[in-house]
Amino acid sequence: MVGKITIAIDGFSSTGKSTIAKALAKKLGYIYVDTGAMYRAVTLYAMNHNFVSLDNFDREALVRSLPSISLTFKFNVDKGFAEIYLNGVNVENEIRTLEVSQLVSKVSANSSVRKKLVFEQQVMGKDKGIVMDGRDIGTVVFPDAEIKLFMTASPDTRAQRRYKELITKGDAVSYEEILQNVVERDHLDSTRKDSPLIKAEDAIEIDNSDLGLNEQFDKIYALVKSLSSIN
Ligand code: C5P
Repeated sequence: MVGKITIAIDGFSSTGKSTIAKALAKKLGYIYVDTGAMYRAVTLYAMNHNFVSLDNFDREALVRSLPSISLTFKFNVDKGFAEIYLNGVNVENEIRTLEVSQLVSKVSANSSVRKKLVFEQQVMGKDKGIVMDGRDIGTVVFPDAEIKLFMTASPDTRAQRRYKELITKGDAVSYEEILQNVVERDHLDSTRKDSPLIKAEDAIEIDNSDLGLNEQFDKIYALVKSLSSIN
């Protein structure tokens, strides 16, 4: 049995990274950190202060405000994962709207935003025993992670999943706008200058277009066990 390790899960939008990361963390007794939630919470802050909209982005105002943005996670026993708090307020639901999804890639391309969040993520993972999901975890945040996964699925599969999720919550969205958002975010996240979304050389790619949740978990857990000698 080896000591605790770091598991980095990266990939495109709505590839089910957080579902698998949560399940792995639970099984291993590890901390789970959803870094997308952190970028979404900063975006929500920028929206609430009118720093960002579909037509505008006052980067300087946001960067000046970064010291006033505090992000924390608190474990919710009923839900079985840690929810995100923006300056002490639980924003777990508010950050999951299409409006936030439409603006987050603009905000996350900003280097000062990334610097702050990457630093906070590295602090959270300093003792290992962590499953972290995002876009740059295996490349920038934890380049030495023992296990790196890179999740992919077809844009249509991903948009279907996200559409079902939002409709189930009661959000009035169309499949077309969700698909457009998934494709646009893939493009912006993969082409930005600072830490673009790319597969780390040593990451294992998992295309889950045709994998059910249990099947996917079994496959990944077996992989984690074989790579880390966790018993
Ligand atoms: O994972 P999720 O879809 O919630 O991420 C929302 C957005 O946050 C991504 O589209 C990306 O722009 C940004 N992000 C990032 N780096 C991360 C995690 C998320 O740039 N590590």
